[in-house]
Amino acid sequence: MENAGKFYINGKWVDPIAFEKMDVINPATEKGITQITLACEEDVDLAVAAAKRAFESYQNTTIEQRLGWLENLLAIYKRRCDEIADIITAELGAPTTMSHEQQAAAGVEHLEAFITALKQLKLEETLSNGEHLLREPIGVCGLITPWNWPINQIVLKVIPALATGCTCVLKPSEFTPLNAMLYAEMIHEAGFPAGAFNMVQGAGPVAGATLSCHPDITMISFTGSTRAGKAISRDAAENIKRVTLELGGKSPNIVFDDVDIEDRITWSVNAVFNNSGQTCDAPTRMLVQRSIYDDALKIAKRVGENASVGDPTKEGNHIGPLVSHIQYDRVQTLIQAGIDEGATLLVGGVGKPDGINAGYFVKPTIFADVNNTMRIAREEIFGPVVSIIPFDTEEEAIKIANDTPYGLAAYIQTPDTEKANRVARKLKAGMVLLNGSSPRAGSPFGGYKQSGNGREGGLFGLEDFMEIKMIHKL
Ligand code: NAD
Repeated sequence: MENAGKFYINGKWVDPIAFEKMDVINPATEKGITQITLACEEDVDLAVAAAKRAFESYQNTTIEQRLGWLENLLAIYKRRCDEIADIITAELGAPTTMSHEQQAAAGVEHLEAFITALKQLKLEETLSNGEHLLREPIGVCGLITPWNWPINQIVLKVIPALATGCTCVLKPSEFTPLNAMLYAEMIHEAGFPAGAFNMVQGAGPVAGATLSCHPDITMISFTGSTRAGKAISRDAAENIKRVTLELGGKSPNIVFDDVDIEDRITWSVNAVFNNSGQTCDAPTRMLVQRSIYDDALKIAKRVGENASVGDPTKEGNHIGPLVSHIQYDRVQTLIQAGIDEGATLLVGGVGKPDGINAGYFVKPTIFADVNNTMRIAREEIFGPVVSIIPFDTEEEAIKIANDTPYGLAAYIQTPDTEKANRVARKLKAGMVLLNGSSPRAGSPFGGYKQSGNGREGGLFGLEDFMEIKMIHKL
């Protein structure tokens, strides 16, 4: 990739000041794809300065102008969508079918939803008390994104920033930097003014922390681990930045005994295995009503045993590797913790799948008889690992579901719509999904408790990037 070692600042690909390099690794082969440069503080300063200068005029662009650039970007993205999918397969290990149909497709869906929302956004309104209200772009935004749904997360931050008249500096994950470079090329081609969008590559504690501490950054939008979210919040407190956080999850999936067991258990297991389990809102705690528990375990075991793991460049619905050796080690530690704590190992376990030597592949793993106090019920594993917990009553299911530091998503499986709605209202989660539905682009994505505090996507996602000004008239 031509610009791999460079940063995109003030409308140009520039050579970094920093000299430290990092290999971008293909997690399926453990071989290097290319190298990126890890930004130093001075590189970040240059990007922030460009965004600050550009904000002076970009904040005054009209919604019609910004819609024009966004429509251009949409057309370019659709044209180059396959390149995004292929690079995500190479640097993340997402199997090519899901990389095209889910990872890259998310970039189209969110951009379309933001365009619709921008047309509905009210920049001025009169309150019922007669006072006048303005919505204005908040300023220069630092955008820090993870590797697991890389383009999805980039689009959910870059687009609302640019759509509302903010300027920004993106720092994508150092583990999946290449899809971000393609996206920067597309933004350039779309014709946004120089400096509106800037991008540096780099490590969290240096490039990320420089953004969070920077006095000229007004807002940080972050997606990633709760650990980094806390560090960013502390750094950003120094000059009272707005901080929006999309963090981890340990989402409950309540399976009631009135379901089609085969259908709902199969869906429930496969939903965790998607993207190798590296999905913040995956339904990783499967709560199964005791009257169907034994049958559910038999089905889950069969689905787990039939799940195949393999080469992400091949078409199909198999499971790819984890992103890195760090994630591989973390997942192994937690699988071992489940065994040590006495959960019943139905399928999988520690080590690589049979016949696989290279790549960060893990065995799809299912634990039964999990107690909600075990580490595998409380900690985000971020691998293809399901924890099954039995329950007796609706009240007990709600209690176990809510007994977690997280609150991103919650899932309910039942054909009884009255029960589903009753339970949904009692769950402490930002999103409740019924009978296998997925969140739609344009709906607010985000969580309660330690899963974060902002909402991304559509109108709610745009409003996060805006200040509200009241004008009092005599
Ligand atoms: P991570 O927190 O290690 O890294 C995320 C980003 O933050 C990277 O760009 C990294 O370089 C940067 N970073 C790390 N430490 C930093 C620091 N001290 N200061 C500033 N920036 C820092 O997370 P990850 O391992 O890349 O991603 C996985 C995590 O992301 C999981 O916990 C997952 O649940 C979460 N996630 C949440 C959502 C959501 O919307 N809630 C979506 C996707 C992923």
